[in-house]
This record gives sequence, structure tokens and C-alpha cells, in this order.
Amino acid sequence: MGEAQVGAGRIRKVVIVGGGTAGWMAAAMLSKLMGRALDITLVESELIGTVGVGEATIPQIRLFNATLGIDENEFMRMTQGTFKLGIEFVDWLQPGHRYMHAFGAVGGRDLGAVPFHQYWLKSRQAGRAPALDHYVFNAVAGWQNRFLRGADVVNSPLGNVAHAFHFDAGLYAKYLRGLAEARGVTRIEGTIGDVRLRGEDGFIESVVLDDGRVVEGELFLDCSGFRGLLIEQALHAGYEDWTHWLPCDRAMAVPCESVRPLTPYTRSTARSAGWQWRIPLQHRTGNGMVYSSAHTSDEEAARILLANLDGAPQADPRPLRFTTGMRKRFWHRNCVALGLASGFMEPLESTSIHFIQASLSKLVSFFPDAGFDPVEIDEYNRQVQFEYIRSRDFLVLHYWANRREEPFWRDCRAMSIPDTLAHKIELFQRHGRVFREHEELFTESSWIQVLIGQGVLPAGYHPMVDLLDDNETEAMLAGVRRVLESCAAQMPAHEDFIARHCAAV
Ligand code: FAD
Repeated sequence: MGEAQVGAGRIRKVVIVGGGTAGWMAAAMLSKLMGRALDITLVESELIGTVGVGEATIPQIRLFNATLGIDENEFMRMTQGTFKLGIEFVDWLQPGHRYMHAFGAVGGRDLGAVPFHQYWLKSRQAGRAPALDHYVFNAVAGWQNRFLRGADVVNSPLGNVAHAFHFDAGLYAKYLRGLAEARGVTRIEGTIGDVRLRGEDGFIESVVLDDGRVVEGELFLDCSGFRGLLIEQALHAGYEDWTHWLPCDRAMAVPCESVRPLTPYTRSTARSAGWQWRIPLQHRTGNGMVYSSAHTSDEEAARILLANLDGAPQADPRPLRFTTGMRKRFWHRNCVALGLASGFMEPLESTSIHFIQASLSKLVSFFPDAGFDPVEIDEYNRQVQFEYIRSRDFLVLHYWANRREEPFWRDCRAMSIPDTLAHKIELFQRHGRVFREHEELFTESSWIQVLIGQGVLPAGYHPMVDLLDDNETEAMLAGVRRVLESCAAQMPAHEDFIARHCAAV
């Protein structure tokens, strides 16, 4: 029996430690969904500040915003946001190559029993079909810098546009703070110097600020960032290090003057010992470099980053260190870690903010009643861990499947990959089959685009594809392209859409 029951009455007093994206997302969501039942206090330290990066998201965030009752246009205005249709990967397979991992289905709507990409595989193997991106609506629209909100049109690919956002993370936290405080969350400014544990069971009793103030609670959410003030420093939950699979351990960010056109996608460009991101916002472009300190120096990374900007830099690059991995226990005793305190997967597929959201929604599902039940806590940990591990596999794929020649990339190619990933690749290499298991974050469409984009091509295709003869297959593929191209051509420019609906004032 690892966890004891605590307290006789219902859990009421929740203390959130940290006021970055994780802390304020937690405060906003819990106050919205459970505000009447809870007394929520958030402690944050201006002295310590926040990590200050994290600008790209995936479509699930729309669900989070909708749960909070957020109006999308207002949110875009308040956060200097732009729309995101996917991620463009430049030079990842090899220099000169690019592909898009776009949100939404490959080939538009499903064609029935046989997934669309199977027809594409047959045509591609015969040397006829162009790259897969030509058959993914968001990629077609994204590369033309067009955007239209999906719900505005029905019965057309235009009605199905899956989108996410780029936004200023500091402004997002501020926006959420406004919502949370309006719903009764108490904010305390101060730096925590001590965490008090109860003698009998090691549960957290209170946090003590440097000025002596004591904040007591029953449930503590550790949103303190990489340091894991509660979950690690006080409770020693342990950390599983994934550096052997995801070798980058440094990042530096540099905001730049905004340039036009505003691209409706994130760009990730492979560099000699890592990769560079580019995230367009309304008021600036976020740029940064993620790299391996075993393969390059901070100075060299900064030199490459500064040499590859398309707008004037507004600050010097700010280097930071990280260790990719996850907490061995995300929920330990009466403490749940969220955000960077729970683990870190580099921003290659913009997953971190999603993990905050997903963990919060699981926390609501497993919200403790009068005490802390070890069976429920174990299940929470198992579910969060599953999502972390499967997403990690997806990131590892990007590194492992490459044809670049630098030592960093050769090392990535030579690494032994997780069994779960190896299995997925082997299966795909036979007949292009890929399956989404349980609640894996990334769908078949994501795996297909990245597997193919990274040059993992199956030897065969699904036998039912041959029920169409070659002419029928080519006519069908050409028809899909035509529809996607003509629908994209009807969309307004991304910039015009923003100007009309959600330009920051
Ligand atoms: P932080 O922002 O570090 O906040 C920690 C909070 O805890 C602060 O308020 C701090 O003051 C407080 N605190 C700490 N110690 C104390 C103390 N002793 N007393 C009081 N308060 C304390 N995610 C994405 O989804 N998309 C991206 O594109 C993306 N890009 C990223 C790029 C990089 C280089 C990095 C490193 C991360 C990126 N992330 C991204 C992740 C994203 O930044 C984080 O998930 C998100 O910002 C959440 O951070 P946080 O709130 O957990 O931590």
C-alpha cells in the first residue's frame, strides 16, 4: 500500500505552485469546472519568472479553450496569435528535402475500407504520384499561406480544416490568469523557500514563502517548471531520462521582428547538430535552436541560429538546458506534477502544452474524493505515462529516419530505438499499415505523413487497392488533388483572415 488516505472531509484546498502556462492552465480549468467545490490558491514568483517559450500548439487546444468558454477571436487578439495548419520539416530527411506534417486526414475524407495513402503508395511505387503533401488539404492550403476556419463551410474539405495556434505564451498565461482570478482563484506573489511534509506519511502539508508566509493545502499541483520543486525536490518521485533516444539537451530562443507573409504553419529546419524552429506571431517571429551539447557548442549553435533568421533579432539568444524524459510518478502522494515539472519532450511536435491539458483533464476524471486512493493514482500515472511514451516514439522517429551525413545525424541513425517504435516501423515497411492504439495522441494520419516524409517507404501496399485498375487509381488521385487545390484557392490569405477577424489591437 504505497499511498495512505488523507483527511476526513472532501479535498477542498488546492494549491498550485507556479504561474507559467501550466499553473494558469490548471487554475483556469479547475476554477471553471470545479470552482464551487474548491478553494484554489496559486503561488508564483516574479523573481524566478517563467521559462518564456512555448508558442506552438496542436488542434486539441481548441477543446481546452472551448471548455473554458473562450471566444477564439478574442483569444487570438489577446495573445497576438496566428493560425497553425501543421509543421513544415525542412532538410530533415536530407538537405534540400521538405515535407509537411499537416493536421487532418491524408486525402481528405476517408474513402472506406482502404486508407487513401494506400492508393497513393501504389501510384508512387509506379513513379507516377507526386509527394504525399499534394493530397493533404492543410499542406496544400498552408504552402499557399491560406487559412479559413473549418466550421465556416460544410460538405467540403473547407469544412474540415483542423487548426491550432501560434501564440505568445506569456500573453496566454496572462489571459488565463484573468479568467481564473475572475472565478475566485487567489494569487500569491512570492518565492517558496521550503516545503513542509507531514511526519506520518510524507504528504505535503504546506509551502513556506521566503518572507515566512505559510500556504497550506490538501492537494498540491507542482507547476514549478524544470526544477520540480514539490514532485522532485521535496518528494523525490524520480525521473526517467530519455537522452539516449532524444539526444538534444539545449535550446536557445531569439524573438525577431515580424516578417510577412504570416505563414500558417510552424517551420522546423534540421541543422548540423539539431534543428531550428520558426513560429510566426502577429507582433514577432519566434525563432530558436534545439541542439545536442555532445555535438556542438553554445557559441556555434548561436552562430547558426543568428545566421538563419528572416527578421531582425530583438534580443540575444537565451540558452537553456533540459533533460528529455518523464517523471517516474506524475502523481505522488498528494502532489500532481504538470507542465515542465512532469517531464519534458522537446518542442519538435508542440506536445508540451497538450500534455498539460491532457493531464488536467485526467486529473479532473480522477479527482480525489475524501482521500487519495492508490489504485486511482496508479491508473492516472499509467495513463499519462502511456501518452508520454507513445509521443516520445513519434519524436524519436524524426531523428532516427534520416539520411544526413553530419556526426549528430549519423549517431541518431545508429541508435537502437524503443521496441514499440521498431514494431510500428516494421509493420509500416511491409504494406504501409499503421494503427492508432488506445488513446495515443498521434493519429494514423500523423504517423503516415512523418514516416513517409522521413523516407520510410513500404515495400508493398494493401491488396484491395488492386480492385481498381491503374487508370481508375490515377483518375481518383487526380480528382482528389483537383478538389483540394480548388478548395484551397477559395480560402483567403492567412494574413487577411487575421486582419478581418482577430488582429491584435
Ligand atoms: P514555467 O514556465 O517554468 O513556470 C514555472 C513557474 O513556477 C513560474 O511561475 C515560476 O515563477 C514558478 N516557480 C518556480 N519555483 C518557484 C518557487 N520557488 N517559488 C514560487 N514560484 C516558483 N510547448 C509547446 O506546447 N509548444 C512549443 O512550441 C514549445 N516550445 C518550447 C521550446 C522550448 C525551448 C522549451 C524549453 C519548451 C517549449 N515548450 C513548448 C514547453 C512549454 O514552454 C512549457 O510546457 C510551458 O511553458 C509550461 O511551462 P511551466 O508552466 O511548466 O513552467
